[in-house]
Amino acid sequence: MPPNNPIFAAEQYYFFQGHFDIKKFLKLYVTYDLSHLMENCLFCSIANGTLESKIIIKEKNWISFWDANPVAPFHALIIPNRHYNSLNELEDPELYSELIQGVKKTAQKENLENGYRIVINTGTDGGQTVSHLHIHLLGKRKMGWPPG
Ligand code: 5GP
Ligand code: ZN
Repeated sequence: MPPNNPIFAAEQYYFFQGHFDIKKFLKLYVTYDLSHLMENCLFCSIANGTLESKIIIKEKNWISFWDANPVAPFHALIIPNRHYNSLNELEDPELYSELIQGVKKTAQKENLENGYRIVINTGTDGGQTVSHLHIHLLGKRKMGWPPG
């Protein structure tokens, strides 16, 4: 392994200190591994500005932007800037609340006064295709029910 590999460095540090702690080591390993995956996440790239998008609102903990393939005359996505694979991973009640505020602020800014629909596709059965939690905000047409 190359000497500047952070996993290797952490492993060596704990061994040399004489108190190798498997939990600490695994935590470092998982953190390192996830950060690598997130580099390849489309919506992380949009949130950190490295991938272009039509941003509607940018806040400290969330952004809203136009969906690249709109399925309604208005179709935006509201995402946390931090990576969560899906709704199942989000536990912070403050962030839940901020994201819903994000929906309302975006709807207000885009004049969806006749109403709108939000959708959170989750997992395979839910039809989720991008593994970074996102809320679809659809508007400017009457929605059908039940959804497909
Ligand atoms: P999901 O199917 O996971 O619920 O929704 C993913 C959404 O992301 C889709 O509506 C798709 O059109 C949108 N999308 C995928 N890639 C991009 C992209 O690079 N930029 C933007 N703005 N939207 C994207
Ligand atoms: Zn992400």
